Amino acid sequence: MRSILQRTLVVCLLLALMVVFPGEARVLQRGMRGNDVYALQELLMDLGYDLVLDGVFGSETENLIKDIQAAVGLASDGLVGDKTIETLNHLKESIVSHTVEQGDNLTKLANRYDTTVTNISSYNGLQNPDRLLPGQVLYIPTDSVATISRSLGVRFRLEWPVKGNISSGYGYRVHPILKNRHFHGGIDIAAAEGTPVKAAASGKVISVGNRGNYGLAVVIEHSGGITTWYGHNSKLLVRLGDNVKQGQTIALVGRTGLATGPHLDFRIKIGDQTVDPLEWLPK
Ligand SMILES: [Zn+2]
Repeated sequence: MRSILQRTLVVCLLLALMVVFPGEARVLQRGMRGNDVYALQELLMDLGYDLVLDGVFGSETENLIKDIQAAVGLASDGLVGDKTIETLNHLKESIVSHTVEQGDNLTKLANRYDTTVTNISSYNGLQNPDRLLPGQVLYIPTDSVATISRSLGVRFRLEWPVKGNISSGYGYRVHPILKNRHFHGGIDIAAAEGTPVKAAASGKVISVGNRGNYGLAVVIEHSGGITTWYGHNSKLLVRLGDNVKQGQTIALVGRTGLATGPHLDFRIKIGDQTVDPLEWLPK
C-alpha cells in the first residue's frame, strides 16, 4: 500500500504539470481523425444517431453536428469545441434507452418517462407507432432532447437497396418453388443479375456468407436493435465486421439459394421479428 506521502507527491506533481501544460481542449473539425473523433462518434451513437464508427470526422459527422448546433442555438459551424461537447453530454444524460417488453405501448411509456407519445415516436422514427415489438430498443427523449428531436426529425432513414419491381411482398404467400403457403419475411425486388446492392442504412456487417435457401447473404446491424438482411446475391463485397455507409455497394444481385430468378430478398428485423420493409422505405 502506498503511503499518504507518496500519494500526496503524485498529486502535487500532477498539479504542477497542469500549471506548466494547461490542458487545451482540441477543437475537432472535418478532416480530423483519431481517438477524440472516435469518442465524439460514440457519443453521437449513444444519442441514437446512425454513424459509421471509424474515427474519421467526415461530412456525415459534420452535418449531424451542424444540425444539432442549430437545434440548440449554438453557432452552426460544425466545429466541436468545449461548448458543443458539453451540450452533447447534457443531451446524453437526458436520454433513456428502453427495451420494449410484452404489453408496452407508447402511451404507457410516455407516462412512465414523463414525455409525450409524439416525442418518442419522432425521435425513433417510428412509422407504425401502434406496433412496438418486444426486444426493440427505444430512445426516450426527455426535456431538451425533445426540442432537438423535433427539429431533426426522423432518426433512422432507409434507402432502397436496389431499384426494381417488387415481385413478392411481405406476408403470407404461396412459395413460387415449394408451392406451399408460408410467411415471407421480406420483399423481393427484381433486378438484373450483377446489379449493385446497397446498404439501406449505415451500420456494421454482422453476418456474411451462405445462408442456405437465402443464398449468399449480408446482414447489417444498425442502432436500436434493428438489422437489415440482403439475400440471394451472386457476389458479396463486404467482410464480417466492416462498417458500411448508407448507399455503399455491399453485394451484387443474383439467384443463389432458393430463387426462381435474379432478385434481392430484403428484410428488416427489430430484435428477432421481421417488419414490412415497405413501411420503412421511402415511397
Ligand atoms: Zn424472398
